Amino acid sequence: MKRLIFAGNWKMHHGPESARRLIEAWMPGWRPSAGREAWFFPPAPAIATVAQMLRDHSGCAVGVQNVHWEASGAFTGETSVAIAREAGATLALVGHSERRHVFGETDAECARKVRAVLAGEMTPVLCVGETLTEREAGQTEAVVRRHLSALDGLAGDELARVVIAYEPVWAIGTGRTAKPEDANEVQRVIRAALMPSQVILYGGSVKPDNVAALVAQPHVNGVLVGGASIDPAQWSAITSATAD
Ligand code: PEP
Repeated sequence: MKRLIFAGNWKMHHGPESARRLIEAWMPGWRPSAGREAWFFPPAPAIATVAQMLRDHSGCAVGVQNVHWEASGAFTGETSVAIAREAGATLALVGHSERRHVFGETDAECARKVRAVLAGEMTPVLCVGETLTEREAGQTEAVVRRHLSALDGLAGDELARVVIAYEPVWAIGTGRTAKPEDANEVQRVIRAALMPSQVILYGGSVKPDNVAALVAQPHVNGVLVGGASIDPAQWSAITSATAD
């Protein structure tokens, strides 16, 4: 059975109290079923609240939006893997396009973060994807392969634990979504470069009206959703979508 993962990246929205209200509004509509998962990436101060609320709900997991690769130390403003885990996170985004393009995160830094997350027994979700300029220059595959270089040298059992999120930058927060078959084709290339069993999500302006067509694609194991994941009605509609 294909895993179907709906991951919500809340970005810099919702502290513990409004996170609680969002989960309370979403929860009654959640119908756990085999293979279906809902993942939440709240801002770090809300992780503990969300993790506690979802503790007994099957198919639900919580993640951190970014980690530092060092275990501890003088890194003001950063979150270590161990701290995120202690708060209840079992997943970590790495290399989200906003981290790359707003904060200048490099592939070398992503590589260190992926290793730190794996060493901390958490699941890294490595985000990859091209800008519009890169796409128009025919560089999509080259850019995605460059981002995947963060995984070079991992052992097979480590690579198998990495989730990929293909998120074309031109589709994030813009209302423009990749055509399902185009997303599928890039994700086929990613799978061919990694492992046949690799879990690969699509992200970029996923909404209730386009999610089903995206998750119906054979190489799409789920979606990473920004804007629509902080609207309880839209998020409920997305997490109820089927791939049939
Ligand atoms: C994201 O933040 O990863 C994302 C895909 O955002 P949006 O769904 O708003 O495009």
